[in-house]
Amino acid sequence: MKINQHFYSLVPNYLFADVAKKTNAFMAAHPEKEVLRLGIGDVTLPLAPVVVDAMQKGCEDLRHRETFKGYPEYEGYDFLRERIADYYQSFGVQVSPEEIFVSDGAKSDCGNIGDIFSQDNTVLIPDPVYPVYVDANIMAGRRIIYAPSGRNNHFLAMPDRNIHADIIYLCSPNNPTGAAYNAAQLKEWVDYALENDAIILYDAAYEAFIRDDLPRSIYCIEGARECAIELCSLSKTAGFTGVRCGYTVIPRTLQREGKSLHDLWYRRQATKFNGVSWAVQCAAAEVFSAEGQRQCRQNLDYYHENALMIAHALDELGIYYTGGKNSPYIWLECPARMTGWEFFDFLLEKAAVVGTPGDGFGHCGIGYFRLTSFNTHEKTAEAVERIQRVLG
Ligand code: PLP
Repeated sequence: MKINQHFYSLVPNYLFADVAKKTNAFMAAHPEKEVLRLGIGDVTLPLAPVVVDAMQKGCEDLRHRETFKGYPEYEGYDFLRERIADYYQSFGVQVSPEEIFVSDGAKSDCGNIGDIFSQDNTVLIPDPVYPVYVDANIMAGRRIIYAPSGRNNHFLAMPDRNIHADIIYLCSPNNPTGAAYNAAQLKEWVDYALENDAIILYDAAYEAFIRDDLPRSIYCIEGARECAIELCSLSKTAGFTGVRCGYTVIPRTLQREGKSLHDLWYRRQATKFNGVSWAVQCAAAEVFSAEGQRQCRQNLDYYHENALMIAHALDELGIYYTGGKNSPYIWLECPARMTGWEFFDFLLEKAAVVGTPGDGFGHCGIGYFRLTSFNTHEKTAEAVERIQRVLG
């Protein structure tokens, strides 16, 4: 027996473990100081009340023989897929319920979607970005090339027509940079994918944070139905990080080598996935009701206010950053040419504020730092004040 040799190629990523270790050591050495965490990558506000009501009702169904539910359908219940299709329609995108696969979250689908593609494909991944795309493709033994981003392109990597790729991951608004593509930029990616006969895997996990007039879906772009799969999540939109639900859209028209990618993914899911629980799908459907949207929006607004607090402080300090406006993340250039880890130590020592060094998100993240808007107003305001004090 041999293990998958590609696991040897994974670079150990101790980013969050190291952050926790350093933070704990600091707290032990300075018990009198209140450490403020702006590195939180998880939501903190509770679920919308109507969503919890729907989940409770779903649980009640399971108590009675007449309404009990067993295995769900692999692709999700129709009522939820219809609600998701209506949601797309609300921002002008036509997706039919039959094109939607309900999932237990975008992370699984980002990693698992590779099952339908050959290992011989070359994968293009923006740098910096959510590390799951890289690791999942290393595990599968695919060749990875990177699309660099930085101040020159405002952390929005663009295609290089001299380089061929078969699979392209895009994440907009991006984790960790918070940068979001406009329609013209996405059109360039779609054109590039069509020219290369490539497939775009478009991670729209943060689409609900978009406030400006920017595309909420890759399907806002002409030609995308011929080259793109979209992955989405209720984690940040509706606080489902612990509940687990997301969805993936594969247009019926999307084909390669004469095969429907939709059918291949259905086959894959039918083999390796047994669906999302009844109560969770009931809750997820309520997210897309008018009242669910209103209540979820309140949480998003709360995080948005935090993001603006951080952004305004950085504006005043004259520090370059991306994100914040259309994203819960703010990605800033470390002052005085510090590396991400140097700035981490500096902020912790001088201000007792914790963020995340950019180094962990890719080579282009060196010298950058991620702050998040998931803490409370009070703690965010206090952290911002401390940052201004030590950097002002
Ligand atoms: N995609 C991106 C870009 C993310 O940042 C995250 C979570 O942080 C996910 C996907 C994971 O989503 P889910 O919780 O639905 O698995």
